[in-house]
Amino acid sequence: MTDKPTGGRRRTPYVFEVVRTEAVSPHMVRVHFGGPGADAFIAGIDEQKALSTEKYVKLLFASPELGLEHPYDMELLRETLAPQDMPSRRTYTIRSIDESERTMAIDFVVHGDEGLAGPWAANAQPGDLVTLNGPGGMYAPAPDVDEHLFFGDESAIPAIAAAVESLGHDAKGLAIIEVASAEHEVAFEAPDGVTVRWLHRDGAHYGDALVTAVAALDAPTSVVDVFAHGEREAMKRLRPLINTEWGVHRSRLSLSAYWAYGRAEDTFQAEKQTPLGQIFDPEPAQS
Ligand SMILES: Cc1cc2nc3c(=O)[nH]c(=O)nc-3n(C[C@H](O)[C@H](O)[C@H](O)COP(=O)(O)OP(=O)(O)OC[C@H]3O[C@@H](n4cnc5c(N)ncnc54)[C@H](O)[C@@H]3O)c2cc1C
Repeated sequence: MTDKPTGGRRRTPYVFEVVRTEAVSPHMVRVHFGGPGADAFIAGIDEQKALSTEKYVKLLFASPELGLEHPYDMELLRETLAPQDMPSRRTYTIRSIDESERTMAIDFVVHGDEGLAGPWAANAQPGDLVTLNGPGGMYAPAPDVDEHLFFGDESAIPAIAAAVESLGHDAKGLAIIEVASAEHEVAFEAPDGVTVRWLHRDGAHYGDALVTAVAALDAPTSVVDVFAHGEREAMKRLRPLINTEWGVHRSRLSLSAYWAYGRAEDTFQAEKQTPLGQIFDPEPAQS
């Protein structure tokens, strides 16, 4: 996953309309988006992007007092708005695209009253409009490994589910997913050889159960690829285990923070440029 700007290319703003919503678990709502931007957005997904199982979009949220009209074109708005008035971006995985219906589904963790996207999704109504940019994302499970490993929390369920569902029927692997409690598990299809193990936080801190469970696994003895995403501190704790102790090379490892406890996404993204926000040691400078 990368959030780097795509070489100064103008990001097309797509306007989507909420078609319907459904509760996936007590703290997860699936929003089905269609409407004006759907055709152009779906048509714009090139062949390479279509293969990615971690396609993500940036939803744009503007302060209602500004009275901005969709589409929010960030490049144009930057010419007229003060930096603090620019819409905030929130990153979400596309859970699925229905090409015949011209809709896409996104699963939002509803994590309380704080924030923009979570509360917006919890209250979304048919007809509500949202502008988004994207999709980004390059990850897909490697075709040439013996086993696939997936580790994450609720925020990574859409990406893990999309990846597991894309595997061949003879694929082997293990997904370990931490959720608040048993009622927050989200069923998805998995090949017989892929075990999905749910962990329950049960009031403990985010990521503790996940890190403990992964640390208790034997180091893989076959060729694996690993997809690990979730709360930042948990990902920072998993990195040395998977990358250093197990020796999983970065080319076989998709590991990044999807969010950080106590941080709005704007702060979390900005901190990626600082030691606090870095999961991997910076690459040594080329001489
Ligand atoms: C590539 C990528 C894909 C992602 N895909 C998804 C996805 O499909 N579904 C999804 O729900 N999230 C996904 N996320 C995570 C999502 O972007 C963040 O959770 C985001 O911070 C939510 O924005 P917000 O406006 O609701 O909260 P913010 O305004 O960003 O944060 C407000 C407060 O809520 C807390 N918070 C934020 N997210 C969570 C959470 N998940 N659980 C508990 N507390 C939280 C923050 O720590 C902060 O204290 C993805 C992130 C990335 C980078």
